[in-house]
Amino acid sequence: MERKHAVVIGGSIAGLLSARVLADHFERVTLLDRDVFPAEPVFRAGVPQGRHLHVLWTRGLEILSGLLPGFVDDLLAEGAVDLRIPRDFLWLTAEGWRERFDTDRMITFSRGLLEWTVRRRVLELPNVTALTGIEATGLLGARNVTGVAFRARGGAVPPGGKGELRADLVVDASGRASKAPAWLAGLGHSGLRETRIDPLLGYASRTYAIPDGFDPGWKALYLQADPPLTRRTGGLFPQEGGRWICSLSGTGRDYPPTTEAGFLDYARNLRSPVLYEAIKDAEPLSPITSFRDTSNVRRRFDRMRTWPEGFVVTGDAVCAFDPIYGQGMSVAALTALELDRTLAERRSAHWFQKRARWCAAGAWLVATGEDRRYTETEGPPVRLHTKVINAYVSKAVAAANVDPASQAALLDVLALKALPTSLFLPGTLARVLTNTRPPKTSPGELSTSHISGVTKS
Ligand SMILES: Cc1cc2nc3c(=O)[nH]c(=O)nc-3n(C[C@H](O)[C@H](O)[C@H](O)COP(=O)(O)OP(=O)(O)OC[C@H]3O[C@@H](n4cnc5c(N)ncnc54)[C@H](O)[C@@H]3O)c2cc1C
Repeated sequence: MERKHAVVIGGSIAGLLSARVLADHFERVTLLDRDVFPAEPVFRAGVPQGRHLHVLWTRGLEILSGLLPGFVDDLLAEGAVDLRIPRDFLWLTAEGWRERFDTDRMITFSRGLLEWTVRRRVLELPNVTALTGIEATGLLGARNVTGVAFRARGGAVPPGGKGELRADLVVDASGRASKAPAWLAGLGHSGLRETRIDPLLGYASRTYAIPDGFDPGWKALYLQADPPLTRRTGGLFPQEGGRWICSLSGTGRDYPPTTEAGFLDYARNLRSPVLYEAIKDAEPLSPITSFRDTSNVRRRFDRMRTWPEGFVVTGDAVCAFDPIYGQGMSVAALTALELDRTLAERRSAHWFQKRARWCAAGAWLVATGEDRRYTETEGPPVRLHTKVINAYVSKAVAAANVDPASQAALLDVLALKALPTSLFLPGTLARVLTNTRPPKTSPGELSTSHISGVTKS
């Protein structure tokens, strides 16, 4: 393959990180997006999930910091909030309250700020150009891919105008609604298998001003459901600009309402009243918006019998997760590293798809395994081993609530620093199975020591 020109379809997190690594291997990189990018760190229509709580787990943060040196300083300079997890959190797990060990770092921000910060850095690269207001409509080529067909939606190219871009490599990072399956079939590459596991989850979110002088001893709240008994989760995280983002969600079609009274009532009925107490008199800064396209979807491009050279698929277009576990952006970051490796080692496009599958494997196990706890979740039948693993994970969560080493092991899995199988390593297994300490307080109650106390790890 010549390495003159690469085109990336989609300028969200997966597309931007792909462009970042492609810039090291190609003379020119063109990033296409159907949106015109805003000049400020604000919401844009092509990323409708942008109005909802987004966390970036440690592995994702590490990769972004490696690809874009100074990235964390950029975020903090714009007002992102530097937290320790779980020390700065009140975290109600399915097994009770988590003690506030000081285990790891988490920077919190709006999704708009994160993407804008990454985009600014990537578009500063001298060989990366963005073509915005452009929608990719198909692939060029016969068996192999030689470029992209597009239509203009506004921006620099007049709306309705059509065109083609030739490229040595096309990367599809157009998200869950990617047309790659149909485009591949059009080139004669068929037989794609897709697995969908849908917990029928909906989000509703709104931002609030953090009240002046607010200092109850915590900075973020995370109140999880206790499946299958309860299905509602609530998160209240600080963002730049002295704001909170409050995201409520429910599985099994227990969707949070978008009316003023309904939203507050839903918050009041979480497993603890602490989130409701915080927001009930806080000043709302946004309308309440909802989002429901949240199923786990995995497309097995890695298993297709034939695959074109000159084309790869990445990000949510390969594997999209129930977002409540906060994994998609970190998996996109892991996959960008594999794209870099594929190009450095001069591997085939299909080899990359196999690596992309592995990048998503741990997160897929976590998200689909947890979602299988809900009886309403739609998908293939639940197997016995999933039930056994879930019973063990419940014990691991209970141990993590009271034991710093178990907490660190579990957080490493959530933060994509370790594979889920690491929870079965002998040291962790022994701690989990021998843990008999009950949680500090029973769910729904919050002792004073829990609000203000920090347990040293
Ligand atoms: C409610 C919600 C909450 C989430 N919370 C988290 C979280 O806490 N942590 C986390 O890590 N992840 C979270 N995610 C997932 C995260 O948003 C995605 O994994 C992440 O954005 C990476 O996706 P992507 O770049 O592959 O695609 P997307 O973010 O969906 O972006 C696709 C891009 O492609 C563009 N595009 C689409 N089609 C075309 C086309 N034909 N031509 C040109 N451009 C096109 C779009 O405009 C968009 O810019 C959440 C998702 C949802 C739905």
